[in-house]
Amino acid sequence: MSPCAPITRVDVLPFVEEVDRSADLDGSNATVVVRLTDADGIVGIGECDAPPEAIAALFAMGDMHAWARGLQGLIVGEDPFEIGALWQRLYQGTFWHGRRGLGVHALSAVDIALHDLVARRLGVPVYKLLGGARVAALKPYATIFPGLPGERSAAAVFAETEAAIERALALGFRAVKVELLYGEAASDRDLVAMIHDARAILGPDATMMLDFGYRWTDWQDALWVLKKVEDADVYFAEAPLGHDDLAGHAALAARAPTRICGAEAAATRFEVREWIVEGGVSVVQPDLSRAGGFTEMRRIAEMCELHGVQCVPHGWRTGILAMASLHFQAACPNVPFVEYLHPTLYDSKLRRELVEPATVTIEGGRVKLPTAPGLGLTLALEPTSGETLTSAGNGTDTSSNAHDRWATLREDNR
Ligand code: MG
Repeated sequence: MSPCAPITRVDVLPFVEEVDRSADLDGSNATVVVRLTDADGIVGIGECDAPPEAIAALFAMGDMHAWARGLQGLIVGEDPFEIGALWQRLYQGTFWHGRRGLGVHALSAVDIALHDLVARRLGVPVYKLLGGARVAALKPYATIFPGLPGERSAAAVFAETEAAIERALALGFRAVKVELLYGEAASDRDLVAMIHDARAILGPDATMMLDFGYRWTDWQDALWVLKKVEDADVYFAEAPLGHDDLAGHAALAARAPTRICGAEAAATRFEVREWIVEGGVSVVQPDLSRAGGFTEMRRIAEMCELHGVQCVPHGWRTGILAMASLHFQAACPNVPFVEYLHPTLYDSKLRRELVEPATVTIEGGRVKLPTAPGLGLTLALEPTSGETLTSAGNGTDTSSNAHDRWATLREDNR
C-alpha cells in the first residue's frame, strides 16, 4: 500500500433532522460531514458547525478567480499527508469570500477529515499525529442548556437546569457549564441567586463554568454580577458581552474576580489573537469545526501558551466534533477542558446515531485516551438527501455539474 495515495473522492454529506429549532440555539438538528477517500479506499471524516447548504455550495461552486475557488477542485488529486500545505491551499483559494467565516468552517471539516484519513492509514489515533499525548486522561465538561425561555418562566427553566446538573454528575462529569441565557425573563439579581444555587447542587469540588450568552452591552453590569458571585468559585465567565466588543472584554477582564472568556465564533489564529491582545481574556474558546481544524487549533493553542491563556474549545455539534475535541486536548498542554455534549443530556438523533461509538465513558470527570485509529468513528447514518456532491477525480464530475445537482436537489426537497 502506497503511503501517499492521492485523494480521489470528496463527499459533502448533509444531515438534516426534520425538526424546527429556529427559535432556539441548539443546532444539533443539522450538520454537514466532509468525507475524503484516497486511491486505496481509506476514508476520513470531518464536520463543521455551519449551515449544510452553504458549505455544500462552497465545495460545488466553480472557480471565480484564484482567490475564490470551488473547494472540491482544490482537494481531489492531492496528497492527504500534506495537511499543512492543503490548509494553506484551501485558505488562499477561499480567501476572497471565506477568510473569517464559511470558507474557514468548510476548511475545518476538510482538515479534520485529513487527520482522520492519515491517522487511519498509519493505524494510530489522531492525537499521535498531533505529536502525542501530553496528558494521561482527558477532561470533558458538560454544558447545561435547557433552551431559551420562550414562554416559560425563569424559575421553570432553572428547575430544568438543576435536574440536568444532577444528570451530568451522574454521567461522570466533574466540570459543568451553566448556561444563563434568560434575556428579559431574569434580572441580574435573579442570575446571582441561580449561580449560588448551581454551586450548591454541584458541591464544592466540581468545576463550575458560566455562560452568559452575550447578555450585556455594558461591562460594568457584567462586573456587578461577577462580584456578587465571587464566593461561588466560578472557573470562567463566558460571553458576557457582544462578540465584537473587545474593548468591553478588556475592561471587564482587568477587573473581574474570575477568568473572562469567549471567541467561540472566532475563525483562525488571527481572530483569536485579537481576543487575547485586545480583549485581554484568560481563556479562548475557538471550535475545531469553525476555527480551522486541528492544524489551526494547534497554532492557536501554541499562541495561547505564549500569552498565558487557556484554550478550551467550543463544541456543539455531533460525535465527530466531540471526539475531535478530545484528540486535540490530548495533544495540547494548555487545554484543561473541552466542551462535550453528551447525547444523554441532549437528545438529538444526530448526536445519538450519526457515528459509532456515539459517546465515550466518563469516570471521575475523566476520559481515557482513545486507542482506535483515526478519530475512531464510523458514520452510521445515511445522509438526509440520499444524494451527495462527489468528485471522482477523473475530470468527469466538474464542479459546475455538482453545483447543478445541488440546485436540483434543493428543488426536489421543497
Ligand atoms: Mg457558548
